[in-house]
Amino acid sequence: MNIIFLGPPGAGKGTQAQKICDALNIPQISTGDILRRAMKEGTETGKKAKSFIDAGQLVPDEVIIDIVKERLAMDDCKQGYILDGFPRTVPQAEALDTFATIDSVIELDVKDEELVNRLSGRRVCVKCGATYHISMLNGKITCDKCGEELIQRNDDKAETVLNRLKVYHDQTAPLIGYYEGKGLLKKIDGAQGMDNTTRAILDALGAKA
Ligand code: AMP
Repeated sequence: MNIIFLGPPGAGKGTQAQKICDALNIPQISTGDILRRAMKEGTETGKKAKSFIDAGQLVPDEVIIDIVKERLAMDDCKQGYILDGFPRTVPQAEALDTFATIDSVIELDVKDEELVNRLSGRRVCVKCGATYHISMLNGKITCDKCGEELIQRNDDKAETVLNRLKVYHDQTAPLIGYYEGKGLLKKIDGAQGMDNTTRAILDALGAKA
């Protein structure tokens, strides 16, 4: 099954995509993770992407489309995949239609107020990428999974968060209508707690946990 996870930053796309990928045994393709890795490794793509990401802007379509096209051609995608964070613009969705067939689009719906709280309180592990919310950490600054340091992503800082939400509403939200028109969209309440959300997504996909 080829699935897209759509939704604003902070809606839980990454966390839920990971759970659903585990349940369905398919890879999670996170364009944000791919770009952050490229930045860390200092590749040409990483250098190109950095200023956009730090400002909360989208990297140019032509950069990200080629990355996804190459990734989806790999063997592990033959049995299906979840795209987490792609497409984010209508031109990206149109390009995707030329090299992939999508079966379902899951839209995670969460109100802006809750998103600002989630993103500005988010902390991530520098090593394994596990995410936490500051309200659950009780002052702890290391990762439960690997013991490394937890940091705030540059683009989770308050001023950038507001910009990312604006970018979502302006450039990505039109994809809701795009996929509704194709009869692929399944809207899920992303504020019903983690486990309930996972169950609702599996139900919507007609899959079992
Ligand atoms: P994410 O981790 O999905 O929130 O992505 C972090 C940042 O990476 C975004 O704010 C964008 O700057 C960039 N990015 C990730 N995916 C895309 C995409 N499909 N198109 C353009 N920029 C992207």
